[in-house]
Amino acid sequence: MKNFLTTGRQLVFSVRLASSSSLGQTARPAVSPGKVDTFYHRDLQITAATPEQMRPKPPLDSLKFGHNFADHMMEVDWNAESGWERPAISPLHNLSLHPGAKVLHYAIELFEGMKAYRGVDNKIRLFRPEMNMERMRRTATRSALPDFNTEECIKIISDLVKIDQEWVPYSNTSSLYIRPTLIGTDPTLGVGHPSEAKLFVLTGPAGAYYQTGFQPVSLLADSDFVRAFPGGVGSYKMGCNYSPTILVGRMAAEKGCQQVLWLFGEDEQLTEVGTMNIFVYWINEQGEEELITPPLDNGLILPGVTRHSLLELARSWNQFKVSERYITMAEVHKAIKEKRMREMFGAGTACVVSPVGRILHKDKTTGEYVELLIPTMESKPNLMQKFYETIMDIQYGRTEQPGWTRIVS
Ligand SMILES: *Cc1c(COP(=O)(O)O)cnc(C)c1O
Repeated sequence: MKNFLTTGRQLVFSVRLASSSSLGQTARPAVSPGKVDTFYHRDLQITAATPEQMRPKPPLDSLKFGHNFADHMMEVDWNAESGWERPAISPLHNLSLHPGAKVLHYAIELFEGMKAYRGVDNKIRLFRPEMNMERMRRTATRSALPDFNTEECIKIISDLVKIDQEWVPYSNTSSLYIRPTLIGTDPTLGVGHPSEAKLFVLTGPAGAYYQTGFQPVSLLADSDFVRAFPGGVGSYKMGCNYSPTILVGRMAAEKGCQQVLWLFGEDEQLTEVGTMNIFVYWINEQGEEELITPPLDNGLILPGVTRHSLLELARSWNQFKVSERYITMAEVHKAIKEKRMREMFGAGTACVVSPVGRILHKDKTTGEYVELLIPTMESKPNLMQKFYETIMDIQYGRTEQPGWTRIVS
């Protein structure tokens, strides 16, 4: 695959940087009167990487998710006395934290995951970024971390993407992953609300999720482990939700499974698959074609932007029943036995959709593993594939869905 490093473009890039940055707009008081409840795009200070600081862009087909970062990052600090400081974009660098910083002890941390796509028209688009920012703000509030303005943050992220636009792959299967993060930084060990915080944004190129076509995944379903519970924080993208899943993921890998199917409750309701929302497309017991995903009402499910978008598309197509409700492992077993199961897939920003081909289900009473085969790849016409193509067409500018994309550059 083509290496997207084009040295000639860096000249264009630095010229653009000078003309599009906010460097000329610094005539605001350094300390705003009173408490600031958001940071502002107009305060953005930009320090461009020097040519020596800029790193070569790796070839697209060698990219491993999260291993490569673009040249710049954004950060903005907050403290309880004076509120948000000025946001800054600068060359990617390590953070300096006091070892007592709350994030290191009580996991006062949250993140987002979104992408920028280079379209067929060479324009760079974000996909529904306001949904990510609003989810991030809800999570900040639940984490006792400071709130901020959605639009101000999107404008700053857009500038960050623009500055590193050569890192947005010249490819209609790859993208630039964007990782906004918010942490509690005050160096005090009390389990109390943070009085200092840092919001930062990293970006890095992400290769094609499917290099050789859809790869169905196997899931380990073991109700000894739960990802989330009512009253907990499973519906927020907080770091504390992910660390306890690593070991379970490794146990799944040891059994030949790529992902964990997270179950909940005595009746083993399906909740999520890995870090994706789950969808089931089947013929229900009433003989109707039905698309099902678990509901958002009891705090177990992460409200995915992809989930939301697939539901909106399916409802607009109006070709089958669309339900937000729980389905249980017993229902899955029965549907497979009665040949009513058509497709099962995960949905999330990383892959759009990810087909499920097999579930290894640990029987609660015997402790034995039962293998279930899911005919997702054989299903025709394939709903998962239709979702995939529809979303990718929107993200890469092949079709326009008003309000779903925002052009960065
Ligand atoms: C991020 C995430 C999703 C998917 O959300 P998108 O906004 O579609 O990327 C689903 N489940 C979990 C647990 C997640 O962390």
